[in-house]
Amino acid sequence: MTGQRPLPVLIGVGSNLDDPIQQVKTVLVRLASLPDSTLQACSSLYTSAPQGPQDQPDFCNAVVQMDTTLSPLQLLLALQQIEATSGRIKTRHWGERVIDLDILFYGRQTIRHFDPDLSIPHPHALSRDFVVIPALEICPNWRLPDGSYLADHAAACLTHQLKRL
Ligand code: ADP
Ligand code: MG
Repeated sequence: MTGQRPLPVLIGVGSNLDDPIQQVKTVLVRLASLPDSTLQACSSLYTSAPQGPQDQPDFCNAVVQMDTTLSPLQLLLALQQIEATSGRIKTRHWGERVIDLDILFYGRQTIRHFDPDLSIPHPHALSRDFVVIPALEICPNWRLPDGSYLADHAAACLTHQLKRL
């Protein structure tokens, strides 16, 4: 979908296997070379306690802001390709993973797509401190499809012992 005006998107990055900090750093390089996209900003790296099953290592998280002319589905497929390249294997729900890439927000659009499953804003984005805090670090004025400011949702996040590295 080239030739269109790029839209700002936020992508969430997470890892808790096989040297998570290095995994996140490597995936940032891969995100920077996505086609039809420009990486604009990357948050600090953070650590967070796992959600869901607790018998797994802590996560390393970051949020990236890109401008892209890829469609939401093209972007999802590109991110899934990067996940596969990083060696992601499907385990249990909210389980350990080498790399997790989530489209958090795609401009101010709301998207519901089935097969492949794609929901934007990401259904859990606003409840996760490891998403909202890094996102606000790079995009303090980010607005949601309903016009509200992301910053106004920060206080309502579930906490996961987030620490900035
Ligand atoms: P989570 O990211 O909530 O921990 P998973 O990464 O295991 O969960 O979920 C992967 C599935 O989520 C994929 O099948 C993908 O199609 C779907 N999905 C739905 N919405 C999104 C989104 N906004 N970004 C990334 N994946 C999404
Ligand atoms: Mg995911």
